[in-house]
Amino acid sequence: MSHRVTRTLAALIIVLCLANSVSALADNTRYREYPERAVARMYVKYNCRCERVGNGTMVGRRGLITAGHLLVCPYHGQWANTIQFKFGVKNSKNCIYTYTGSYHIYVYDTFKQSNGTVKYSAENNIGYVIFDKNVGDTTGWYGIYAPSAYDLTGEWYHWMGYKNWEMWADYGFLNASDNSNVFSFNSYQDAYFQGSGIYNWDEGCEGPTLVGVYISDENGKCYGRKVTQNVIDDMRKHGAFN
Ligand SMILES: [Zn+2]
Repeated sequence: MSHRVTRTLAALIIVLCLANSVSALADNTRYREYPERAVARMYVKYNCRCERVGNGTMVGRRGLITAGHLLVCPYHGQWANTIQFKFGVKNSKNCIYTYTGSYHIYVYDTFKQSNGTVKYSAENNIGYVIFDKNVGDTTGWYGIYAPSAYDLTGEWYHWMGYKNWEMWADYGFLNASDNSNVFSFNSYQDAYFQGSGIYNWDEGCEGPTLVGVYISDENGKCYGRKVTQNVIDDMRKHGAFN
């Protein structure tokens, strides 16, 4: 190998290392940027005294969409009574915005089955929050869209949510296949993304558009609940987009 080639290789390696450190730096501050900052880490306490942590996504100035089981305890059918919403979370002490005002929560099912047992399924597992104050002008928000079966089949999607203190953005593309209001996808990530938004961001679009919510994983498959027109209409009625 000539000296010239060796030098060129060395220069290339330095450039690659620099590029790598720059992207790591960018990732370290990414929690502050849109669209990451439009995703909330939610600390939920229920009337049954259970506690849960999950994610929600702003889809309007006053509307946040999430998994229904973050708003009603799936094991006891009890409503959440205290939810703390933190946006742009860096670690346990720092975030760009905490919502401390009042809010209303809505779900499509309280997870009680006819035989009295309580269980949730992806079929009904979607809910939303209406904030009394304008949150979206601080955090930004996603578009929201009720996808058809055709839209969801064989398309690639992203998700975005917090896992512990880390925002996992654009990590793993999703190949969704539609089954009524539920879709499944393969993922090499483990769970803890409950309530995370599943979205696309096609070229030419102004920003990300939410089409579903991450619910659970079982046997190596992940499940999401599709946004339906019904959900969007109800959210509009309650002022999510005002
Ligand atoms: Zn409970």
